[in-house]
Amino acid sequence: MRTAVVVGAGIGGLAVAGALARSGWQVTVLERGDRVRGDQTALILWPNGVKALDALGLAGGLAAIATPLPDSGVRRPDGQWLVQPRPGATRVPVIVHREDLHDTLVAGLGDRVEIRTGVTVRSTRVSPDDRPAVSDGRTTYEADVVVAADGIDSAVRQRLAPGSTVVSSGCAAWRAVIPWYRVPPLNDGRPVVGETLGAGYRFVAAQLGQRGSAGSSTRGGIYWVATAAGAPRPESPETQLVLLRRWFARWHAPIGDLLAATEPDDLVQQEVRELRPLPREYGFPAGPGGFVLLGDAAHAMPHHLGQGACLALEDAATLQSLLREAVPGRQVSEAVAAYSRLRRPRAATVVRQTRRMSAVLQARGRLALRARDAALGTISPRLMGSAATAAAAWKPPA
Ligand SMILES: Cc1cc2nc3c(=O)[nH]c(=O)nc-3n(C[C@H](O)[C@H](O)[C@H](O)COP(=O)(O)OP(=O)(O)OC[C@H]3O[C@@H](n4cnc5c(N)ncnc54)[C@H](O)[C@@H]3O)c2cc1C
Repeated sequence: MRTAVVVGAGIGGLAVAGALARSGWQVTVLERGDRVRGDQTALILWPNGVKALDALGLAGGLAAIATPLPDSGVRRPDGQWLVQPRPGATRVPVIVHREDLHDTLVAGLGDRVEIRTGVTVRSTRVSPDDRPAVSDGRTTYEADVVVAADGIDSAVRQRLAPGSTVVSSGCAAWRAVIPWYRVPPLNDGRPVVGETLGAGYRFVAAQLGQRGSAGSSTRGGIYWVATAAGAPRPESPETQLVLLRRWFARWHAPIGDLLAATEPDDLVQQEVRELRPLPREYGFPAGPGGFVLLGDAAHAMPHHLGQGACLALEDAATLQSLLREAVPGRQVSEAVAAYSRLRRPRAATVVRQTRRMSAVLQARGRLALRARDAALGTISPRLMGSAATAAAAWKPPA
C-alpha cells in the first residue's frame, strides 16, 4: 500500500489528502489544532481554483456552496469610478464560506484518510537512504511521500528550504461575514459587491447567497475584507471595530452601513505576511519517495489577487495527477521532481503579479496617489486582466 503523510489540515492539506486517497494512497493527516474546521470568513475562488476543484472531482460539492461574483470595477472612497465594471465576463469568480469549503473537502476524504488532531510536527528527517519522516517529538510518522501543507510558518519548509523566510507585507487585514439576519436593507436592494481603493486602505465587499433564500451558501451574508497599511492592532476587537469605522467613515455607501452592522465577534484580524524569497524547489526526493511543499507552506503571498487558496488547490490537483499511478522508487522520485518543475514557475508568476498589485494598493502621499489614480484606469484593467488571464489560463495536467 502506498502511503502519504500530510502535515496540516487547511484547504491545501484536506484537498491533497482526499485527492491521494481517491487515487489509492493510504493517507495520515497530522493537524496541530484540536479540530478540523475553516475560519468564519469567506474566500474568492478564481476560475483556476474552480478548475482545480473540478480536476479533484469536487466541483459537484462546490456548486451547492458557491455564489458567482460579477465584475464590479474599482472605486475611489468618494464613489468615483477608477475602473468601470465590465459586465458579461464569461468566467466570473465565485465566493464561498470557508466553513462550507472545509465541509466539502472533508466530505471528499473517504475512508482511506486518518486524521490525527493535536499533533504538532516539530522535526523532519530527510535522508537519501530512508523514507521521509516527520515527528512531533513523541511519535515518528514515516511514509513514501510527506506533503508539507502546514501553512506560512511551515516547520517542514524551515528544514527543507531554510533560506526562505516569512516577512511582513506592510499591511493588516480584517475580514467578517455579517449574517443575513443582521444585514440592514442596503444599496436599494441591488447586490452588494465592489472594491474601493483609498490612500493605504482598501475595502472589498461581496454577497454570499441571497437574502431570504434557502441559498446557494449554507452560511450566507455579506462578506467584507478591509486592508490597511501598517501593523495589526493590539487593541480588543471592540476597539478595532471603532478604528475601522473611523478609517472608513467618509467612504461611499454602503461601507459605513456594513461596518455598523458588523459585531466584534465577526471580526478576524490578520497581519499580512509573505515568503521571501520563494523556496527554489517544491519537491525533495528522499529514499524511495520524497517531500513536497504545498499551499502557503510553498508560496504564501499577500491576499491582493485572492490567489493563495486557488494555488493550493492547483498544487493538490497537480500532485494527484503525478502520483496517481506512481509506485515508490524511481517513479515517485520522478513525480516529486516533476511537481517542483510544474509548480515553482507557476507560483512565481502569480507572486510577481501580486507584488505589482501590492505597489498599486499601497501608494500613499498625495503625489503618489494622484499618479496612481490617473494611471489606474489604464494600468488596472491591464494588470487585472493579465492576472485574471494568467489565473484562468491554468490547466490541470493530463
Ligand atoms: C485577508 C486574506 C484574504 C484572503 N482571501 C483569499 C481569497 O479570496 N482567495 C484565495 O484563493 N486565497 C485567499 N487568501 C489566502 C488563503 O487564505 C491561503 O492561501 C490559504 O488558506 C492557505 O491554505 P493552506 O492550507 O496552504 O494553509 P493554512 O490554511 O495556513 O493551513 C495550514 C494548517 O496546518 C496546520 N499546521 C501548521 N503548523 C503545523 C504543524 N507544525 N504541525 C501540524 N499542523 C500544523 C494549521 O493548524 C492549519 O490547519 C486570503 C488570505 C488572507 C490573509
